[in-house]
Amino acid sequence: MEVYIDGKFYRKEDAKISVFDHGLLYGDGLFEGIRVYDNCIFKLDAHLERIEYSAKAIALELPWKREEIARAHIEACRRNGIENGYIRTVITRGVGDLGLNPNNCGNPSIIIIADKIKLYPPSVYEDGMKLITVPTRRTSVAALPPMVKSLNYLNSILAKIEALNCGFDECLLLNDQGHVAECSGDNIFVIHKGKLITPMSASSLLLGITRAATIECAHELGIPVLETTMTRYDLWNADEAFLTGSAAEVVPVVALDGRKIGSGKCGPLTAKLLERFRQKVRTDGTMVK
Ligand code: PMP
Repeated sequence: MEVYIDGKFYRKEDAKISVFDHGLLYGDGLFEGIRVYDNCIFKLDAHLERIEYSAKAIALELPWKREEIARAHIEACRRNGIENGYIRTVITRGVGDLGLNPNNCGNPSIIIIADKIKLYPPSVYEDGMKLITVPTRRTSVAALPPMVKSLNYLNSILAKIEALNCGFDECLLLNDQGHVAECSGDNIFVIHKGKLITPMSASSLLLGITRAATIECAHELGIPVLETTMTRYDLWNADEAFLTGSAAEVVPVVALDGRKIGSGKCGPLTAKLLERFRQKVRTDGTMVK
């Protein structure tokens, strides 16, 4: 494997950054998780736009043009023979001293790792996933807006620990007001009376690329979409529910906190959206070859 760091490719063993990088010392940086399907990088431009927005939000000036970063992603896939897989992009504030001050850091660094991906087994897409609501609340938009895909992921990790301790792979996080926010690494949707409903961005969530692609699919299928404030009541009374994420794609959610959602099986509109999404990933990408 060859890893891209700041304009050069290094063998995996030699791909290293400084222990004084503020990405490591403070989680001061950003990342992305991007899928590659059949030699096409899915929604690369949307991911690069999210990096730009996140960078603006944390006052990190990116010294690279979008096209330059895009080319490096394509090259990382080519060199590693990734026809189907996953790209992890990491941007750090750069090397500084032991103080917080980001102005003492030199140049930001960019790391691109193109690798294979381990997927959920097919049974998850047929039988669905059960979720648990965890006590940890999603970071407030007034603290660290979760729209920023920052290197500081402890909020999600604490939630994940709580879920795993209870025997669940994924969980539901509420925001500081008790509204539904999202899952530890995925966004959440419900279907109610034929309408697709999902928490709005001010509810404290990452604006997922898969979330946006799913909303696109709904528009294409003529399913009305509502982005709003949601509580657990909306999940208890949903006809269907599912989560979305670059790794997960569209996964049916069949229970929350031991309560069955809808029929307790993958619902018909969820199945339709998953099918449409899987068509979209083959038609909406940046060619690697
Ligand atoms: N929410 C969180 C907290 C995430 O980390 C992710 C990405 N794993 C998502 C939602 C889904 O985002 P995307 O569709 O861009 O992968």
